[in-house]
Amino acid sequence: MIFSLKEISKEDQQPAQFTNPETPGYVGFANLPNQVHRKSVKKGFEFTLMVVGESGLGKSTLINSLFLTDLYPERIIPGANPPLALLPTLLWKIERTVQIEASTVEIEERGVKLRLTVVDTPGYGDAINCRDCFKTIISYIDEQFERYLHDESGLNRRHIIDNRVHCCFYFISPFGHGLKPLDVEFMKAIHNKVNIVPVIAKADTLSLKERERLKKRILDEIEEHGIKIYHLPDAESDEDEDFKEQTRLLKASIPFCVVGSNQLIEAKGKKVRGRLYPWGVVEVENPEHNDFLKLRTMLITHMQDLQEVTQDLHYENFRSERLKRGGRLSSYDKVLCKSEETVVALKGYSYISALF
Ligand code: GDP
Repeated sequence: MIFSLKEISKEDQQPAQFTNPETPGYVGFANLPNQVHRKSVKKGFEFTLMVVGESGLGKSTLINSLFLTDLYPERIIPGANPPLALLPTLLWKIERTVQIEASTVEIEERGVKLRLTVVDTPGYGDAINCRDCFKTIISYIDEQFERYLHDESGLNRRHIIDNRVHCCFYFISPFGHGLKPLDVEFMKAIHNKVNIVPVIAKADTLSLKERERLKKRILDEIEEHGIKIYHLPDAESDEDEDFKEQTRLLKASIPFCVVGSNQLIEAKGKKVRGRLYPWGVVEVENPEHNDFLKLRTMLITHMQDLQEVTQDLHYENFRSERLKRGGRLSSYDKVLCKSEETVVALKGYSYISALF
């Protein structure tokens, strides 16, 4: 219902509550952060994490440990390659293709909702020629940008679901002597599209000295090959000392050496997530045993920065490239344009208008 000014009676107008004679200089915008906070809490957060790495490096186990939730309850873990003669095994490897599996869970903690999508890429690195698996993953990342661009230019921009990939955990094998050519090629292929966080898998298979050596080697190779990984922003000078120290520690731990486990084990009278060995228990959430907690802290405390870098850098790159290409339709638009309704909705927008 729309009221005109005349229809509001004098009693309904309550100017008194909008002035504060005791603090005349106080306007009230100091309250804005609280409003923003309340609004974001109400709206909830959306985050998409992609995990890439060769099969068997512990990606699913780590993701389940990170969010204390079983994201893949129905997944059947394949056994070893079929114990047939060598030839069929080889064929199996040639034919393996990467799949994209996106699972979304809504997690709520103290009233704050997080809509988390984890994009797993089973089959990555299994084929002898990995070029196709690159293509599949890159197309997926681009499609999410394309969808966002389309929704943003559409008629209803209020409820856009953001499925853009905000972060990619790239799993590196602990058994090699650094990066493999596949690791280098893949990271270079995606570093302008997504925030890469390198992770050394199965850290329990390495001694402390081996970990340090491998970390240094990987960082050197990342620099040598000009790979752009996600850089944690420096803490602002007015942040408290603990936060500054935490940021320094997190930066120094990259690439994170992690251990994952879905089992609860009794250690020192407590039930902990860990891996039981004849000589003791490796605790997932013990910072002295591995960087799991640091990785989780990095993700949680920098979730907003990861989103901002995705928006301001990767999405902007995509968007300007996309607009430069002008009226050419992507495969995503072509699918959409099959529906007459969508064609009408898209007509007014410059990047497609050339076609009509
Ligand atoms: P994915 O194929 O990369 O998703 O790997 P999975 O999570 O399915 O794990 C493959 C195997 O590695 C399973 O037997 C896990 O129990 C084991 N695994 C997972 N994380 C670790 C770890 O941190 N250390 C060790 N030693 N084994 C692990």
